[in-house]
Amino acid sequence: MARIVVLGGGESGTGAAILAKTKGFDVFLSDKGEIDGKYAGMLREWDIPFEQGRHTEELILNADEVIKSPGIPSTAPMIQKIIRAGIKIISEIEFAGRYDTARKICITGSNGKTTTTSLIYYLLQQAGLNVGLGGNIGKSYAYQVATAHHDIYVLEISSFQLDNMYDFKADIAIITNITPDHLDRYDHRLENYVKAKFRITRNMNEDDCFIFCSDDEITISHLNKIVVKAKMLPFSQKKEVEQGAFLRNDRIVVRYEDSECDMFIKELALGGKHNIYNSMAAAIAGKVMDIDNATIRRSLSSFQAVEHRLEKVLSIGDVLYINDSKATNVDAAWYALECQTRPVVWIVGGTDKGNDYSVLLGLAKEKVRAMICMGVDNSKFHASFEGVVPEIHDVSSAEEAVRMASRLAKPGDVVLLSPCCASFDLFKNYEDRGRKFKEAVRNL
Ligand code: ADP
Repeated sequence: MARIVVLGGGESGTGAAILAKTKGFDVFLSDKGEIDGKYAGMLREWDIPFEQGRHTEELILNADEVIKSPGIPSTAPMIQKIIRAGIKIISEIEFAGRYDTARKICITGSNGKTTTTSLIYYLLQQAGLNVGLGGNIGKSYAYQVATAHHDIYVLEISSFQLDNMYDFKADIAIITNITPDHLDRYDHRLENYVKAKFRITRNMNEDDCFIFCSDDEITISHLNKIVVKAKMLPFSQKKEVEQGAFLRNDRIVVRYEDSECDMFIKELALGGKHNIYNSMAAAIAGKVMDIDNATIRRSLSSFQAVEHRLEKVLSIGDVLYINDSKATNVDAAWYALECQTRPVVWIVGGTDKGNDYSVLLGLAKEKVRAMICMGVDNSKFHASFEGVVPEIHDVSSAEEAVRMASRLAKPGDVVLLSPCCASFDLFKNYEDRGRKFKEAVRNL
């Protein structure tokens, strides 16, 4: 019996182990850290042997194939040993793809993955299709392949997952955009990160579709160097395209083959220039899936924002509080500021990932009334924004930040949490940061 070893016992690893078990493999799961009780319980239920708090080499290096969770970097010592032993390492998505004949719509990119994935999932659900949602979002894809049946999957795929994908093929692949992020995992070389993203187009042929942003310079310059066999469906807010999506006056126009769909920008449920891009990508996917125009329009105008992404929390005394905790990089915060039409009290800060704030100075000068830095080390914000925004304050919790913001904001203002940074200095993760912010707002 072939032996599969799964490294990492979170959502993705546990799902992969369960799928491997149902396919008759000899399965073992190993996690160097502690496994969450929920996943340990599932592994026991499925009678899958596992270990936590260590990696026992004898139980791992006898694998025929290893499934690696995306959180484990390829530089981890255990991974290096597996590579030296000549054992193939694949991702959960690669593994599950082998057993799944559903049509697959796969979304990657630096920003907008979750929003675009959720939009497409919603749209296909509204069209009455039997669709599953997976990848980096919701339930593990492998777990669903093991236990459910869907005709279509919409999968959000991070570049870490793409790193270990080889034979997997998307029917529709989407790259939302590419801006430098996570370069620490790619030897600080943009080229490596871009190549990882483009792995989403591997194995595609003439019948498949590739949806991408033709306003994105990094995407376009890479496309000039490679051959993608799939049908090319760009979206742009700058120029008209033959096939794909573009703007005409105050409307979005989508063209696929001989069919066209249009809708007013102001009817889109999600505001902001970045969400026009996300909606365009979703609308093209909808056209390719042969969804009727009325359903596409209705879905894009009734979609509810995803938690922590420009999520409107409450309006108090005509001050609107917005939770954009997921803006963990400069580009995401740029879009958040860009779409504000009211003066902004801006809450920023956290773990800096080598950020360059210069691109934000123009918008900050134009829109920001006051800045509140919520982090352990705020010095870089002070150095970058002093003299650009009228006042900058330091706080060390979400509660303090919200109280300070409520004092500084005037009726008609927006209080925007869009931190440009990771959250690990003060919070467990961005969800924890967003929830604490919302709780503090509700307690005002
Ligand atoms: P991801 O899953 O790629 O991290 P999300 O949809 O969760 O993307 O959005 C993350 C952050 O990026 C949010 O703060 C959001 O406002 C911003 N954002 C969303 N879509 C885009 C886009 N197309 N371009 C730039 N920023 C975006």
